[in-house]
Amino acid sequence: MILLDGKAVASEIKQLLKKEINGYIKNGLRPPSLAVILVGDDPASNVYVKNKRESSEEVGINSLCLKLPSETTEEELLKLIEKLNNDDDIDGILVQLPLPPHIHTQKVIEAISPTKDVDGFHPLNMGKLATNVKDGVIPCTPLGIWLMLKHYKIPTFKKDVVIVGASNIVGKPMSLLFLKNEEATVTVCHRNTRDLKSHTLAAEILIVAVGKPKLITADMVQEGAVVIDVGINKLENGKLVGDTDFEKLKEKVSAITPVPGGVGPMTVASLLVNTVHLYRLRHGFPAHPLTEI
Ligand code: NAD
Repeated sequence: MILLDGKAVASEIKQLLKKEINGYIKNGLRPPSLAVILVGDDPASNVYVKNKRESSEEVGINSLCLKLPSETTEEELLKLIEKLNNDDDIDGILVQLPLPPHIHTQKVIEAISPTKDVDGFHPLNMGKLATNVKDGVIPCTPLGIWLMLKHYKIPTFKKDVVIVGASNIVGKPMSLLFLKNEEATVTVCHRNTRDLKSHTLAAEILIVAVGKPKLITADMVQEGAVVIDVGINKLENGKLVGDTDFEKLKEKVSAITPVPGGVGPMTVASLLVNTVHLYRLRHGFPAHPLTEI
């Protein structure tokens, strides 16, 4: 059984990006820059933003962290995004989700210029992914999972892939990545799937992004499957776990991601890749090779 070590793969990607960014600076270009907006003081969001900021700085990306009070109005937030959209020194804009309920999330996502949309959530970038148009932005978690599968040379061609969870940020774009070059056969399950087990049992590669501890038990996976656990759940005792019964599954599968230390670090590494990708496009360079699928 291979433990898919997201932390180690992410660290390799960061080394590559650091080298690449040093090259730009040596050639007299400014470093890439990422603006992260956090509205309110949700503790989990605070941790995510801190992580993103530290990782950006590690590789030489300038990070600008804009913390706004939870009572910030939608109009104020949209104005700030507009200002950042027009700032030539900013390559990527990220608004940490979830937003307070009085702010319309989709409106905010659509206000970010697609050329600065590091998360890849803008409908134009989603549409590019769905229709195989180059130079778009792939959402960070699916890109991270893809890069991890490629790093471990896990075959994806002609495989039966099952994705549990159909959100706009993980499940749906993940399915589009596998469909991009008609790479694999994809089944997407969600809360209205009638017989989840019948689908998960058929998976050669199983990707789970739901947010329910132990949703996937050992009897639901086939011998030798590759399992990617995206879920992050905090138990009452403070322990972080994924969506699968990791201890039991690891006896049966050929590869699995741990939680924490699997998909999480790959998501952050992909955010850095996307920032450098947008920086490259802004400077007239081709798309970043790690985004070419
Ligand atoms: P979401 O709540 O937007 O979507 C959850 C999906 O799961 C929905 O499609 C829903 O239909 C489906 N679902 C719910 N109950 C189900 C059931 N019983 N059977 C089958 N499907 C079911 O969630 P999301 O934003 O995609 O996140 C999912 C999980 O992944 C969360 O735990 C989140 O914290 C985690 N996450 C982790 C990372 C990372 O970097 N590791 C990134 C994004 C999300």
